[in-house]
Amino acid sequence: MTAIATLGSHCSLQVLKGAKDEGLKTILICEKKRERLYRRFPFIDELVIVDSFKDVLEQKCRSVLEQNDAVLIPHGTLIAQMSSEEIESIKTPIFGNKWILRWESDREMKEKLMREASLPVPKPVTNPKDINKLVIVKRQGAAGGKGYFMASNEDDYNKKRDQLISEGTISKDETLYIQEYAAGVLAYLQFFYSPLKEELEFFGVDQRHESDIEGLARIPSEQQLKSKKVPSFNVIGNSPLVLRESLLDEVYVMGENFVEASKRIVAPGMNGPFCIEGVYDENARFTSFEFSARIVAGSNIYMDGSPYYSLLFNESMSMGRRIAMEVKTGVETNQMDKITT
Ligand code: AMP
Repeated sequence: MTAIATLGSHCSLQVLKGAKDEGLKTILICEKKRERLYRRFPFIDELVIVDSFKDVLEQKCRSVLEQNDAVLIPHGTLIAQMSSEEIESIKTPIFGNKWILRWESDREMKEKLMREASLPVPKPVTNPKDINKLVIVKRQGAAGGKGYFMASNEDDYNKKRDQLISEGTISKDETLYIQEYAAGVLAYLQFFYSPLKEELEFFGVDQRHESDIEGLARIPSEQQLKSKKVPSFNVIGNSPLVLRESLLDEVYVMGENFVEASKRIVAPGMNGPFCIEGVYDENARFTSFEFSARIVAGSNIYMDGSPYYSLLFNESMSMGRRIAMEVKTGVETNQMDKITT
């Protein structure tokens, strides 16, 4: 029997609950410090206790996964804690396309793929000298917004960068990525592309709550001005959003363009869950500053099914369950090569 395995963090509960609901065996690769938490959930059949998630690369962990014929579901923690080389070297079949995860982690590659998909990306600023509008300064990889900052000119940039270096939040030789700040309503668009059905599904939308940029918005400007702190964009949680129905057609077009571009640039393409992240401005025009080429933690708000999936499925369907359903179909129709790498 096929098993579903994932790292104990991010969206693992949703992924394994969904797998259980589909009748698959569930395996959690769990750090010792989290064992107490995950033992609370009876739908987890087996916990593989590790010192660090990098143990996935070790023989001991690998053989458990192999014996169980496991498919590993990648999520943000895998990307945050392992290099692209390490992820690509994992021998266990990975759901979706492990090669595209490098395109998510590297800022320049990310921008290239987004342009190829005709997504409206904010203008990048290659030299701090050229900052003449409000910009957001980002770190590489899935840093979760920690250490990001905003700047309005070169001096402002240097001052904040120096402050974050002295606080130990970012390192001196870290390459930072600067792009124009896009103001508007945050919308993180979650999709699933099935290579078995050759169909794109729109799953839902979430908003991220980020500290302490949000905390700053809750205090009067007088106090804001006195604050010496550089506010970061550290994700604390997510909440649901539904879009004006008139925006949906464009949402599907963006998702389809992304799937098509990925097929051209990084075979076998964008299979499985992914997310296009951005903001809608006052004219309901979308600017996209990010994508995630795997399940996002924002899908956790729809563990019992999303508004848009309730239009497609007559049972509660989380993203975790949708993944398990695809794996089951892949096994039954002997097409696992199409959905794993
Ligand atoms: P990211 O790592 O690119 O997902 O960015 C983390 C957070 O920073 C996002 O969730 C947004 O709140 C914010 N952000 C990133 N890029 C931009 C942008 N160009 N304009 C406005 N906000 C942004």
